[in-house]
Order: sequence, then C-alpha cells, then structure tokens
Amino acid sequence: MINLKINGKEVQVPEGTTVLQAAGQVGVTIPTLCNHPDLHATGGCRICVVDVKGWRTPMASCTLPASEGMEVETHSPAILKSRKTILELLLANHPRDCLTCDVGGSCELQDLSYEYQVQVPEWGTKGTRYIADSDPNPFVRVDMNRCIQCTRCVRACTEIQGRFVWTMAERGFDTHPVPGADTDMLDARCESCGACVAYCPTGALSDKMSYGQGRTHQVKKVMTTCTFCGVGCQFELNVKDGRVIRVTSTEEAPVNGNHLCVKGRYGYDFIHHPDRLVKPKVRRYLIEGKKKKTKGKPWEWVETDWDTALDLAARKLHDVRTNFGADSIGVLTSAKCTNEENYVMNKFARQVLGTNNIDHCARL
Ligand code: SF4
Ligand code: SF4
Repeated sequence: MINLKINGKEVQVPEGTTVLQAAGQVGVTIPTLCNHPDLHATGGCRICVVDVKGWRTPMASCTLPASEGMEVETHSPAILKSRKTILELLLANHPRDCLTCDVGGSCELQDLSYEYQVQVPEWGTKGTRYIADSDPNPFVRVDMNRCIQCTRCVRACTEIQGRFVWTMAERGFDTHPVPGADTDMLDARCESCGACVAYCPTGALSDKMSYGQGRTHQVKKVMTTCTFCGVGCQFELNVKDGRVIRVTSTEEAPVNGNHLCVKGRYGYDFIHHPDRLVKPKVRRYLIEGKKKKTKGKPWEWVETDWDTALDLAARKLHDVRTNFGADSIGVLTSAKCTNEENYVMNKFARQVLGTNNIDHCARL
C-alpha cells in the first residue's frame, strides 16, 4: 500500500492507483474531459492537472501513479488558472451553438465552463470549420466543429466495440477524428453500436434519429431490459410526451454498463410504428366459420381480443394432439424472449402438450 496526502487528507491506496483515483477515495473530485473510467487514460486534455509538492510543473492526475509520501494539491490558485486557460483554449475553437446543440444540458465541456465561469473568448472561433452532420451513417450524427480532440471516441470504438473505426488525423489546429483513412463510418466497418456517441463528452457525436427531438432534461428516463436477445442488457428509454424518442446507455446497467449493440441503442422505432401489431389477429373463418365464406375473405386476418385468440390456439392445439398425437406438434421459442419465458415454453411443450419437439431460433 502507498501513503500520500491529497489536499492535506491522508489516503492509503494500492500500488498502481492513479492520483485521480486516490483523490476520488477521499471525496475530492478532480475535473476530467478526456478521461473516462471505462477507457485507458491518455492524459491528453490536461484539465485534471494537479500540483505535487516539490515538482516543478503541474501533472495530469489521470496518468500519474500515486507514490509514497506524495503531497498533492488539486485546487490551488495556479491549478485553477491552468484549468481556466485550457477551457478557454478549447472554447476558442468551439462553435457558439449551445442554444441549438442536442447535448446542451448534458455536455461535459458546458458543465466545466459553467463551473469555472469561462466564456468563449472574443478572439476565438471565426466560424465553422467542418460540415455539420457530415457522415451518412443513419444513426450517428457527426459535427466535428464541436470536437475537443479528447479521443474518447477512438478509444471507445477500439477498446469497447473492437472495430477500430476512428483515428486522429492531421496535426495541430486541424487535428480531428476521422473514420478509417478519412472515409465514411460505414465504409470504415462501423457497426453503428453508438459507443463513440455514448463516450463523446460534447455534441460532436450525437444520436441522429433523435436529433432536435428533446434534450436530456426534457425527457423522463425509464430503465428497462432490452427485448432483442437474451443477454439482458439494460438501458434507459428517454420518454417525452409519452413517446420514446431515444435510448441511452448507463453505467448503472449491471450486464453491459455503457455498452449496447445497434439493436439495443437504435432499434426502438418499432415502439410507435403504425404497422406494429398491438392486438391479436386470427383468420376470419376461425371466428365466423367457413359457411359465410366469400372469395378470399375467410383467410383474412381480423383483430380480436386476447381471450378469443388464446382459446382458439388452445382448441386447435388440442384438436391436433387428439387427432394426430402430441409428436405432431413442435414448438419454436425465440432469442427475443427472456430465459424465463423460454423455460416456461419448455414446460408447456413437454408437460402440457406432451412432446419433446421444442427448439430455439438460435439453432437455425
Ligand atoms: S458506432 Fe460503434 S462501431 Fe461505429 S464508430 Fe462508433 S463505436 Fe465504432
Ligand atoms: S468526437 Fe467527441 S469523443 Fe471524439 S475526440 Fe471529438 S469530442 Fe472527443
């Protein structure tokens, strides 16, 4: 164990702990931008700089290992001035479009600028440098004018999704992320998982489907479990005026944390789709009998209530079993069901119907 002092408070941490992590242990929050606990630290943005007694220059605490006897100051006047200057330099290259930005209210750059009371400097940005919404990806909206070059998108795509889509291009003032060799995202083998969006601290990468439909503080977030497969990922449905306008991942999700696949993050438009079946349908002749048949009509799907539909299904299964035996029936379950639902279907097939003919769509 290593003993050090942070703002005069003694703290003991295991070897390999960074000063940023050690500060967290004693309730001291050091601001960060390029750092994220899910991603490896790069020490790029320098917002997390701290003073270390006896050291000449401020150090980035996210990459600084705690060492024995270290005495750290996280909020000295010189450090606060440093952070303000860094924020001012970031804002100098940033568009002044917080009023219309989709992540206004949930932007880490905005929050820090507020906390440190930093304004966009008058000598700053002379206008947009990149085309807004520049990538044809149907789910990810790219606006590199809002990029602060933190590289979180690069690391999220590499370390979490393993697709290596983003890389940093150009030098100095022109440095910015590009997909592949400066192509578009899908061409660079993007799977549209949205991890880069989830980890981007600004509005440079945002969700295209919900753009302009509602900011974080305008929606009610409802935690739920994804219905697309049996992994059990959880996420938040962002609900505005009774409609789901977006899905956001959350570190609170025990199985998946901030990570989701394209289906979980962006496959939600079926919820309010006009073609969605919300009531059971059965063939007309099953309700009205074949006598009334006119050409084509008896086979027509008609809406009915659940009791009628379930009674019909039960009666038909019973008839088939009586006339042809239980093994003439087979049951196919689905990866879109929960484990519990699949278990119940197994019981239904074997114990209610009396057949071992049960299989799962994942074997097809
Ligand atoms: S959407 Fe996913 S796969 Fe595509 S660039 Fe972003 S992180 Fe990589
Ligand atoms: S696009 Fe977002 S995550 Fe990527 S470098 Fe820019 S600000 Fe950071």
